[in-house]
Amino acid sequence: METFANLIDGEWTVSANASENRNPSDQTDLIGLFAQVNTDQVGQAIGAARRALSTWSLSSPQLRHDILLAASNEVMARKAELARVLAREEGKALKDALGEVVRAAHVLSYFAGEALRLNGDVLASTRAGVEAFATREPVGVVGIVTPWNFPIAIPAWKIAPALAFGNTIVFKPAAPAPHSAWMLVDILQRAGLPAGVLNLVMGSGAMVGGALVASPEVDAISFTGSVGVGRQIAAGCIGASPMKKFQLEMGGKNPLVILDDADLPAAIECAANSAFYSTGQRCTAASRLIVTDGVHDRFVDGLRTRMAELQVGHALESETDIGPVVDEAQLESNLGYLDAARKDGARVVGGERLNRPTEGFFMAPALFLEADNAMRVCREEIFGPAAAVIRVKDYEEALAVANDTEFGLSSGICTTSLKYARDFRRKSAAGMVMVNLPTAGVDHHLPFGGRKGSSYGPREQGSYAREFYTSVKTAYVGDAQ
Ligand code: NAP
Ligand code: MG
Repeated sequence: METFANLIDGEWTVSANASENRNPSDQTDLIGLFAQVNTDQVGQAIGAARRALSTWSLSSPQLRHDILLAASNEVMARKAELARVLAREEGKALKDALGEVVRAAHVLSYFAGEALRLNGDVLASTRAGVEAFATREPVGVVGIVTPWNFPIAIPAWKIAPALAFGNTIVFKPAAPAPHSAWMLVDILQRAGLPAGVLNLVMGSGAMVGGALVASPEVDAISFTGSVGVGRQIAAGCIGASPMKKFQLEMGGKNPLVILDDADLPAAIECAANSAFYSTGQRCTAASRLIVTDGVHDRFVDGLRTRMAELQVGHALESETDIGPVVDEAQLESNLGYLDAARKDGARVVGGERLNRPTEGFFMAPALFLEADNAMRVCREEIFGPAAAVIRVKDYEEALAVANDTEFGLSSGICTTSLKYARDFRRKSAAGMVMVNLPTAGVDHHLPFGGRKGSSYGPREQGSYAREFYTSVKTAYVGDAQ
């Protein structure tokens, strides 16, 4: 059985411990062993990133462009293979896994271009004979901590801008899906990165994450994951000396509003996609379907028919629409929410554990009917193929319910009314608003992020990524006397 090593200072490095990575579609399928770093190795990775910074931060933007573009080209050329790696370890249906891999390639090529586009400002000083500049420099050593649910796209959208703007990296991927991350690092390293610029440290989240946050040699942390871990990282970064810059992308409880005047078949498709695709394991998944009275019953009937058509099965089978839940603990948690919904008085349809020819964590999509926005299943992120249906009387109530949440990542509305579409776009308290589109599914070159409990710090992706991965320097230059 192959052991996948960590990358520390340009060397693939094994450890005394390794962790098994198994296929959630088939628990008998052992994908590989993944080396688990010890504390000393995390320190070595941070030290290597710090040493590499002085050269890399002043390297030619053309070099950084060329490396990112070469990596993008390799990801694209090997997209079918990488999609299989991703689907096998994470359980995302192969067609969705392919979409994610292509997106990672696009992110890499986009930031290849951004390396050459980094600009600043030249301003007139208030003082005669003085020149004034605002320029951008790398932040320094960046700790990158990512979740398992987009195991190649999220690492790509953090690593690519970090490299493009001259930062060095210590990267900790999530335990359930390290193979995709390993492949991405291997591709970037062979594309020509100098030793120490990108370090991969697979291991315990608490240990590695804690060491990154505590180290004075790490200048900034970019994190995507749960609210609980995000809070710990925030507290650690503020408590550290010196304090660290940090960026957090966390959970969601995203609403999708369906109004009486919606194109009903399109709204049903939009809801099925938003709530159930990728097994609902998307931070942008809709988990509250807020439906006005006049269309409610027809919408529910149509969505139930559509749910029955969705094929739940092995992620690598071409006819599968919805792969397994990522692991046993997540499946147990999802099933626990079905009980919570029943206890709170909702009517649960679907959601049963499914048997398939292979030993995996399969679950039917679930709806919570007659739900009330105060129920636990409407307040807490479930992160599974389950959505509540909340009946409302009109648009105004729909908007109020949509915004009544501690989260604010993504939101959507299905309507043919320009008036309501426009009003919702303006008043929805979310970082991303979709009109007649699924709440999930965003472009790689536009800013990504949320409000309230969903996000903290500057946006990711697109030209906005530079806010986090660069630090502004203001310079005044006078005449020598
Ligand atoms: P998670 O449990 O918070 O883990 C995220 C990462 O943090 C993993 O690499 C994890 O390592 C690490 N970690 C765990 N404990 C840590 C600690 N004490 N200090 C530092 N790092 C630590 O989240 P997840 O279960 O992987 O992912 C699901 C969550 O991610 C959901 O809440 C989802 O909404 C969110 N998400 C948000 C976005 C967004 O952009 N808003 C996108 C995707 C996912 P281990 O895996 O080794 O524990
Ligand atoms: Mg977790």
